[in-house]
Amino acid sequence: MSKTEVTLDKLSSLAKRRGFIYQGSEVYGGLSGTWDYGPLGLKLKKNIENLWWRTFVDERHDMYGVDAAILMNQKVWQASGHMETFTDPLVECGNCKARFREDHLNSEVCPVCGKADSMGESRQFNMMFETTIGPVNPRTTFVEKSKSSSGEVEQKISFKELPTSLVYLRPETAQGIFTNYKNVVDSFYPDLPFGIAQIGKAFRNEISPRDFVFRSREFNQMEIEYFIREDNWEAEFATWQSDIKDFLIKQLGLDSDKLHEEDVVGDELAHYSKKTIDFNFDFPHGSDELLGLAYRTNFDLKNIQDNSGKSMEYRVKGSDDSFIPHVIEPSFGLERALMAVLTSAYREDEVEGKTRTYLALPEHLAPIRYAVSPLLKNKPELVDKAREVYKLLHDKHPGRVMWDDSGNIGKRYRRQDEIGTPECVVIDFETIEDDGKVTVRNRDTTRQKRTLPEKLD
Ligand SMILES: [Zn+2]
Repeated sequence: MSKTEVTLDKLSSLAKRRGFIYQGSEVYGGLSGTWDYGPLGLKLKKNIENLWWRTFVDERHDMYGVDAAILMNQKVWQASGHMETFTDPLVECGNCKARFREDHLNSEVCPVCGKADSMGESRQFNMMFETTIGPVNPRTTFVEKSKSSSGEVEQKISFKELPTSLVYLRPETAQGIFTNYKNVVDSFYPDLPFGIAQIGKAFRNEISPRDFVFRSREFNQMEIEYFIREDNWEAEFATWQSDIKDFLIKQLGLDSDKLHEEDVVGDELAHYSKKTIDFNFDFPHGSDELLGLAYRTNFDLKNIQDNSGKSMEYRVKGSDDSFIPHVIEPSFGLERALMAVLTSAYREDEVEGKTRTYLALPEHLAPIRYAVSPLLKNKPELVDKAREVYKLLHDKHPGRVMWDDSGNIGKRYRRQDEIGTPECVVIDFETIEDDGKVTVRNRDTTRQKRTLPEKLD
């Protein structure tokens, strides 16, 4: 099959037109860096999420799930280093005041006003969203009045009460796992190695959100902390690397030519990590990080132990052997996975002299498994039979069967192709007058076959 060139424009306009992804708050002009998922985008996202959970948690015997609060004690982010170092370099154009992430600028010219050499000094911008907890608002409550030397009354915002009322929307789900490690050990006392998984929202105040849903301010992570013995880290890392690759190619159906594993080295490697592999994918905007796999040593648990004063040691059953476990961390972004799935599935071909767009989604990920149509919607006998078939299939695939009787049959096929429905089922006169068989039309080949509805999976 010839390769289709996928652009962000093609992807985002199909996503919007067909009810996958809309701009956040669009009716009010939008909110930068936010996206709303429509009926089909939500289904696709849930299918990916559920597949991930089944593969990496439910089908294994060494995994535990948690669902931690988004708001966490700010000591979490002090201990993890996020308050100090979770920053991006920010520069401002002296001419038009537009702000950019310094490492995203690829020329000396301001992308907004076009002026050359207009960027000021870069400074570090913390990407965590702040809010306050309890009935306080630092912008109104903590204004201090004082008299200056010249006798004028000055107003100044005081930060003295902020240490207890200030909280952050979590910038990653991983810390919600680490802070529950001790709880899980105390409740279940699993043998090493074991893992804790979490799926949930994370928030980052990106300076320049862009590239469709790739870089958003609000997104979902699917993360695991896998607790191991230090001496075994290389073997455990290699197993995770190959399990992840299998998942991406065999389960998500990603185009393997577009997937690249890269060893993170030098400055890019976090100081606590002894090895990190980035799984990069050729997205429409270029090759970029789909997910990361990191060996984080015992950095996080040790930090928690040092800052909380509570022991994070694991005692091996039936022995006095105690130590802080080391950790392998696979960290997936759900929306990035979804974008890679859409990019891999997007196809254009020619059918009856016209360009056709379709999504060759794996059957288990497609939001809609079957579309069911009566050939003509003004023939009650066809409609009745079609309703019967719809119910039969809907019982097998709740929520994944679509009733589609608008427009002519050709238009219905095109619409279903665009949303990636693997098969369309059509009830015609032959069905009711002859053998009871229905026409089943395949998305990828556009070929049709006749079969009894009971025989459909
Ligand atoms: Zn400018």
